[in-house]
Amino acid sequence: MKHNGYEFDNYLKSHPDMNGFFGRYGGAYVSDELKRAMAEITEAYFTIAKSSKFIGDLRRIRKEFQGRPTPVSHLERLSGSLGNVQLYVKREDLNHTGAHKLNHCMGEALLAKYMGKKKVIAETGAGQHGVALATAAAYFGLECDIYMGSVDIKKQAPNVARMKILGANVVEVTHGLQTLKEAVDAAFDAYCKEYKDAIYCIGSVLGPHPFPMMVRDFQSVVGIEAREQFLEMTGELPDAVVACVGGGSNAMGMFSGFLNDPVDIYGIEPLGRGEALGDHAASLKYGTEGIMHGFNSIMLKDENGEPAPVYSVASGLDYPSSGPEHAYLRDIGRVKYDVVDDEETIDAFYKLSRMEGIIPAIESSHAVAFGMRLAKQMERGSILICLSGRGDKDMDYIIEKYGIR
Ligand SMILES: *Cc1c(COP(=O)(O)O)cnc(C)c1O
Repeated sequence: MKHNGYEFDNYLKSHPDMNGFFGRYGGAYVSDELKRAMAEITEAYFTIAKSSKFIGDLRRIRKEFQGRPTPVSHLERLSGSLGNVQLYVKREDLNHTGAHKLNHCMGEALLAKYMGKKKVIAETGAGQHGVALATAAAYFGLECDIYMGSVDIKKQAPNVARMKILGANVVEVTHGLQTLKEAVDAAFDAYCKEYKDAIYCIGSVLGPHPFPMMVRDFQSVVGIEAREQFLEMTGELPDAVVACVGGGSNAMGMFSGFLNDPVDIYGIEPLGRGEALGDHAASLKYGTEGIMHGFNSIMLKDENGEPAPVYSVASGLDYPSSGPEHAYLRDIGRVKYDVVDDEETIDAFYKLSRMEGIIPAIESSHAVAFGMRLAKQMERGSILICLSGRGDKDMDYIIEKYGIR
């Protein structure tokens, strides 16, 4: 089927290309030594992870341990308050550990286990990826080192406690802005030294090939389930699909189920406090092409061409770039990218909590806010939003900063 003149039938199999490129974006810009490590993982992915045994294991784990499939919920009261458009959410908040990230962590850790690795290494921002990976490591009996900026450690104390209880080693990163970007650098450095015994489990559709592809494929269960469930519930496809974009994994998981359909797709970035550099993390809207953390994509740069400081009320969205596939889907016009600021996000956080009994993650609240905005613009139809996670981790911070509304 053609959408905007573009052929998507075989899209997931033909993207990325053999070298890990989505058009001009992606690739593996790393040292020769790391290139060998990436080649080993790519090779393992295309052999081990495509075997019926691996796929069978992963399916069983998703059902018995993660609690999948997660449901799709119709937001009747919220929809009614906005007009005639019907809003639905895919409930990744109900995935074990409370967010979509466990989907790729269980896949990556299972691959590590099959490859005979002893340890998993990762960075974390909001702490959600750290918790998800620590959970996977505990499940499979792997060691786990999680790198995390000091600022995020303070902001996300409950998630730090969860990681420690799960047996992970939380390594504090004290340089720079002490947030996600520095944590990525530190985790990458550690991996360079340990790659023979360890595997780096990146937290999103980022990093050198094969990670953007692998993480997307492990997350695609979100979109595949949601499409089937939505069809069963309503007999038709949604008119629009919405997801928030930090690195872009929950969005790519959701989108990959609908790329081939006549459905409008929206990726939502955080506008934070406003348009000035340093006040937001909307890389696809304001960024330019560049290479960081081993891949080519669109990124926010400072005057020296280095990754710029970024801000969002959502720790999980404050990353100065986005996955290469998002840059590609933006350029070819298949996905539209828009922004939502902190204020509109907090409003959506409270509306969803009050009207539906679902406390969303502050990251996911960006997608909910845009869905609500879109619902007011459309006359009729339906919008399916990826509710990437639950908001328990954000409650104390939101009450302290914004008060009860
Ligand atoms: C980490 C996180 C995000 C952002 O990550 P993506 O890779 O862009 O999906 C969004 N929502 C929640 C709940 C998260 O924990």
